[in-house]
Parts: sequence; structure tokens; C-alpha cells
Amino acid sequence: MMDKNFIKEINKRRTFAIISHPDAGKTTLTEKFLLYGGAIRLAGSVKSRKTQKHAVSDWMEIEKQRGISVTSSVMQFNYDGACINILDTPGHQDFSEDTYRTLTAADSAVMVIDCAKGVEPQTKKLFRVCKDRNIPIFTFINKLDRAGKDPFELMEEIEKVLGIQSYPMNWPIGTDGDFKGVYNRQKKRIELYQDGDHGQNIAKIVSKDLDDEGLADILGADYYQRLKDEVELLDMAGDDFDHDKVQNGELTPLFFGSAMTNFGVEPFLESFLKLTYKPEARNSNQGLIPPEDPNFSGFIFKIQANMNPAHRDRLAFIRICSGKFEKGMSVYNSRTGKKIRLAQPQQFLAQDREIVDTAYPGDIIGLHDPGLFKISDTLSEADPSLKYEKIPVFPPEHFSKIIPKNSMKRKQFLKGIQQLAEEGAIQVFKRPNIGIEEYIVGVVGVLQFQVLEYRLKNEYSVDIIMESMPHRYIRWIEMEGYDPDRFNATMDSMLVEDHEGNPAIILQNEWSIGKIEDRNTGVVLKDIYKKD
Ligand code: GDP
Repeated sequence: MMDKNFIKEINKRRTFAIISHPDAGKTTLTEKFLLYGGAIRLAGSVKSRKTQKHAVSDWMEIEKQRGISVTSSVMQFNYDGACINILDTPGHQDFSEDTYRTLTAADSAVMVIDCAKGVEPQTKKLFRVCKDRNIPIFTFINKLDRAGKDPFELMEEIEKVLGIQSYPMNWPIGTDGDFKGVYNRQKKRIELYQDGDHGQNIAKIVSKDLDDEGLADILGADYYQRLKDEVELLDMAGDDFDHDKVQNGELTPLFFGSAMTNFGVEPFLESFLKLTYKPEARNSNQGLIPPEDPNFSGFIFKIQANMNPAHRDRLAFIRICSGKFEKGMSVYNSRTGKKIRLAQPQQFLAQDREIVDTAYPGDIIGLHDPGLFKISDTLSEADPSLKYEKIPVFPPEHFSKIIPKNSMKRKQFLKGIQQLAEEGAIQVFKRPNIGIEEYIVGVVGVLQFQVLEYRLKNEYSVDIIMESMPHRYIRWIEMEGYDPDRFNATMDSMLVEDHEGNPAIILQNEWSIGKIEDRNTGVVLKDIYKKD
């Protein structure tokens, strides 16, 4: 029997990730979303927040120290009848693998760009990850209250650098630091910017038609004329708005605003809810699974331990894909075939964690995890063999040998690196058949080494010695009858095993890859590891 309320709950869900280069205003915008959703009553200005209390989405001490978001967090709020899940992502490119995993749980993405800086290097990297998944991308051009680039120039940059067409949903008036407001192209009205309360409360929208004679007085004759010319140009020369293209990630709706002063946040949310859909069917080894499927299912996309130093717990984050989640229900883990009772699920509402009783497709919940889950695990109420698409493991580009400084701490050391490997924060390798115990850590971005060092020290009280290696490439080895002792490697390469015992080879030079293929008949070398 189809439960009407169940369908209603699914239709309300919108789940998106928010990406940006550091400092573009992602945290501020997230706070303002929460403010409009009523999740926090008064948005503290970011400045005072930075000195007093930290942003709602920053958890770890390390983030505070470095001022960058290292890990992704998740928050839920209600707005205008919709139930919105925001997935925050680290801005720094060294954590793009974490971002990738988070994006697998999102149905769309919001990209925040600083109007003065335009498309920055990390925006580019993170954007590519979204593009790979063909998810709809919405762009919020931020900090319009300050001087910035010409809006046409920004559009061109987005098209040239990111390779996506954009469609301005609104158009700024007086961008050179003398910001007057925007013209809303959909509603065909002017929304005036009011500087004053510094974004402490919800900003008012004042509307006036583009043909309103009074506008020349309000905006100034020059600005008014320029706006009329520019809007005409956009209407004539710009791309048409095509909802299908947005849905396929080929066209990004562009919104100009100022998160700090709240300007444009509400119209953004309104349009966003109109243009995005409820969670769609997800691909699995049993074909597409629609969210309306009555059996609960989902996949683990993130694992994190010790998020809260007060309770040293480990949480596995699941994205619900179908059915209704109920506290205490038992589900299969298709990797192990075992049934697990989901006892203390948590959901994240602004700064609080709460125990959830029910949750729906599109929602993200944190499951208490005493080591039961791995990234990519599928949990299913009815089908022990159901598997959603596996999240790929990125090839590390930097490697280091690590040992504990104090050999008495070996046990904590092993526990720590195993934990961090399970979280996907690092990849751990060993050399086969060498007799000594030696650990090699591989990472995609070098900052991950610092996180490793910091977390081992702070969470496991282990100091380490790290020796960096010259290897830059890895290939996983697939070969019938593979035997590391008889494998013909090159001088600049080293045979290793990943933490699941899968054979791989790390190399200093890219050209060695071809050599190894030539020397070992039947070998297949893979750069991304994705075992089903
Ligand atoms: P994140 O690193 O992307 O999360 O960026 P934050 O939200 O922490 O913002 C970085 C800086 O930009 C902070 O000092 C904010 O106060 C400032 N900022 C954010 N939004 C705006 C805005 O709309 N206008 C101005 N002038 N500053 C902003």
C-alpha cells in the first residue's frame, strides 16, 4: 500500500551540495540559508563568528586552526514547504576526493563565486567533479555589495574556464561597489538593495517594474539606462533558458547577490526550489531504484570518527535512496550479507545533532558505527544483494613512509591509520613479502599528510616520522596468477598492496607504466580502483 504521506515527504526533499574556493562565502551563504529556514534566529555576522564561535558547519579543531573546511558536514532545514538537506564540502583542492564522495550523495550543487575574483582554481577543480556526475549546478555570484568584475565578464569566464553556459536569473545594478540591487528577469521586477542592518535579519524586497518612471530617480539616470540596455542585450544575445539543460548540468542558472547582507538569498532559494526536483531514481546492480520503492535502501558515502572530542564516536553517513527509514529497523549490509539494527541514528539540524525516528529518500543520517560500515556499502531492508554504484577510490599522487616515533605506541598507531584509511582520509599500503612491517601512505593532496599527522597526535596520541617518497603514480594490478616475486617491475617503481590486499604498483615516472605493460604479459593496470 502506498502511503500518501510517504510520497509527500519524498516530493518535499531537495538535497544539494555547496562548493566554492575558500573565502568566496560558502559558510556565510549556508548560514543565511539556515536563517531563512528558521533554523537559526539571528545570523551572527561572519566576522564576529570567526573570532568568537565557529561556523555551524565547521566541526574539527584542525579546521579552526587552518581556517579551511577539511571535512564535509550536513545540515537539514525547512523552507517554504520544502525539506532541504545541505551538504557542505571542503573548499581546498587537496580534499577533492572527499568532495567527490559527498557529491555522490547530492542531487544538485550550488557553486559560490566571489564577484571580484571570478572563477578561482579550486572552483575549477570542484566544478569538474560536479560535471562528471552531470548534476544540475546553480551559481551564486557573491559579494555584490563590494566592487567586482563586470557581470558580462564573469559570464564569459564561467563559459570559457568551466565550459558551461550560464543564464543570469537576475542582473546587478551598479556593480562597482555602488550596488543598487538587481533586476529579476523571471519576475520582471527590480529588487532594491538596502544597506543597513548588516544582514542580521531577513532583508526586504522592494519591487518596481523596469518601465516604472520612478526608477530613474531611485537608481540614477545613468544606472537606469545602462540596466535597460544590458537587459535588452541579454534578452537578445544570451542563451535561452532551458530547464532540461539545467537538469543535465549543461546550463547553470546564475544569481547575483550578497550573502553577508542577505541580498538575493531568498529569491535564490525560491528559484532553486522551483528549478530542482525531488530525489530521482538511483542506479544499482538491480537497475534503477525509484525513491518511492517501499523498501528502505541507501549507501554510505562518508565515515568520520571523533567529530566531537567529548564523545569519541564514529559515524557513518548514509544517503537514503528509497523507502522510509525508521529508528531501530534492521537492514542488510550487502558487502557482508549481515543484518544490522540501526539503533541510534542521528540527523543534523543547524548546530545540533538529534536522534531521528523517521527519515526519507534524499535525507542524510549519521549511523553509530562501531566498525560495521565502509564507504560505498549499500544498506537495504529487503534485498541482501542490492548494491548502489560503488564510489571510486582516487589514485593517490603523493606517498610517504610512516612509522610511530615511539615504538611503544605501535598499537595506537595501527588503530589510527586503519581508522583514517576507513574514513577515506588517506590510503594505506604495505610492501608484499619484505619481512619488515612498513607502512606507506598515499594521498591525493599533500594537506592530507598534515591532517594525518595532526589527527594521529590529537586523537590517538601518536607522533609519527614521515619520509616522503618520490613516487607520483599508482596503478592497481589485475593479472592472472599474479606473483609479486616474479613480477617484472622497473627501477623507479615499487610493488605494494592496498589495505584490502589488492596488488598495486607505485611509480615515479609515467612512462614506466607502458614499460611494465610490455614486460608482463597479460597485466592490466588500472588508475582508479573500483571493485564490485
Ligand atoms: P568560505 O571560506 O567560502 O566559507 O567563506 P566565508 O563565508 O567564511 O566568507 C569569507 C569572508 O568573506 C568572510 O570574511 C565574510 O565575512 C566575507 N563575505 C561573505 N559574504 C560576503 C558578502 O556578501 N559581502 C562581503 N563584503 N563579504 C562577504
